[in-house]
Order: sequence, then C-alpha cells, then structure tokens
Amino acid sequence: MQLLSTITCPQCGHPSTETMPTDACRFFYECAGCGALLKPKAGDCCVFCSYGDVPCPPVQAARERGRVAECCGGGPDNTAKA
Ligand SMILES: [Zn+2]
Repeated sequence: MQLLSTITCPQCGHPSTETMPTDACRFFYECAGCGALLKPKAGDCCVFCSYGDVPCPPVQAARERGRVAECCGGGPDNTAKA
C-alpha cells in the first residue's frame, strides 16, 4: 500500500507529494504552485485518483483484490488508468 502520491497540477504542472489518508477520500486540493483548487474529474472519487501518480488507498486495496473500488463507482474509465 502506497500512502504517498505525487499530485501534478493540470493548470501549471507543479508537482507536490502528499500523504493520503487511508480512511477518506480527498475531494479538494489546493495547488501549492498556482493556488488552483483542484477537484476530481468526473468518475473519480478523489484528487489522487485524478491527478496523482498513485491512486487513493481504497482503490489500491480494491485493485489488489482484482476489483473496482466501490468509492469510485466503478466507472468504465477507471480501469483505463495506470
Ligand atoms: Zn497549479
């Protein structure tokens, strides 16, 4: 289980490594580079799934079991992301 995820801002490209909570999804993230308030893309449960290089812990746990995380709703594009 990886608890560190590097979020890359889609607006300015600023990367920032953040520690993810294991028991909650993080919905808002303020970029340290440009101050943009990031929100998850449609179908994603949290900003780590949308902009991080590692998905959030609930998603990781589900993938280890070969399943789609319930917190992400099992959208069709969830399996397309690395
Ligand atoms: Zn930014």
